[in-house]
Amino acid sequence: MRNWLFGCVVSLLLAPLPGAAQSLDADQEDYIRANAIFFLYHELGHALIDILKLPVFGREEDAADVMGVVLSETINPVEDTETIMLAAADNFAYMAEMAAQEGYELAFWDTHGLDKQRFYTILCLFYGANPETRQKIADEQGLPADRQATCPAEFELAEQSWGPVLDDIKSAGRGDWLHLSVANKPSSEAEDVLLDAVTIEVGILNEVLDPGQSLDLVFGNCGEANAYYDPSDQRIVICTELAGLFND
Ligand SMILES: [Zn+2]
Repeated sequence: MRNWLFGCVVSLLLAPLPGAAQSLDADQEDYIRANAIFFLYHELGHALIDILKLPVFGREEDAADVMGVVLSETINPVEDTETIMLAAADNFAYMAEMAAQEGYELAFWDTHGLDKQRFYTILCLFYGANPETRQKIADEQGLPADRQATCPAEFELAEQSWGPVLDDIKSAGRGDWLHLSVANKPSSEAEDVLLDAVTIEVGILNEVLDPGQSLDLVFGNCGEANAYYDPSDQRIVICTELAGLFND
């Protein structure tokens, strides 16, 4: 089961869709929206590394997660960042738990960190960005004291790394570099929410950033719950199937 509680009202995550069947409760919908945003940020991290030719000293997947935290801290209200980061961390904890229950071997060979490591790292960076106000959250989420000790420095390094990159591409609000196209229409309420969250976030990203180059973002069926950046045609793909993962 998910260890998930939303402790705040989320302005950015918005209200239920007009006309949508109301089978999802508000927490479920917010959870889908928050994870959609984190996945979009992660893929945008890959895209920025590619199109801006950024150096990556280490694992690119880690760098993309780190960008997601720093970007949220940079552009979102504090309460929205809390919602997004706790949902994203929880989703990785959930995937780790499901994999363990299914008896899957840990994918040490994978390009990504282990799901449980991503859980702790997202929590650590979130905590490290403001340890004074987030101590209770870090403790409640089970971030060990040994890791907590390094989190402020970890966030500081993350901000020193991604902060100048984001500063360079901050926009005055031109608003049309990130192009969303819908390859497959949503086929469930959860997919409706996923697409709505992506659509709203694309609008926000178009307002606050401008990397000086167009980027396509496709929402469509992939056959698996995934999202990815394809450098060969410089596009982000958000798979409709993620809605099912976030709504499990
Ligand atoms: Zn990735």
